Amino acid sequence: MKRYVCQRCGKEFTSPQALAGHVKAAHSGASKTDRMLTLLSNIDNRLARIESLLEEILGFLRDRAFQELKLSEKVELKLPSEEGLPEYAVNNPWINVLARRGRD
Ligand SMILES: [Zn+2]
Repeated sequence: MKRYVCQRCGKEFTSPQALAGHVKAAHSGASKTDRMLTLLSNIDNRLARIESLLEEILGFLRDRAFQELKLSEKVELKLPSEEGLPEYAVNNPWINVLARRGRD
């Protein structure tokens, strides 16, 4: 007589119907756990991908911010002494005195 063996626990049955009934009754909980574990590992993989994407984006933004900072430094360095102030104010020692007022 042919035997039908459960793949999960090795129990033997004499008909495929009996085996199917056993699997459903004894192992449906376990297969639910398996499905949960699969889902969790999928989520884990997705999170890892999102994490590495975020790192890429942050690296990109940091590079850009750094470049923009360098650009704006160059622009700001020209402005105050050459164009920003009227002639009488350039090299006027009172400007420094007045600028310090209220800060000390
Ligand atoms: Zn079994």
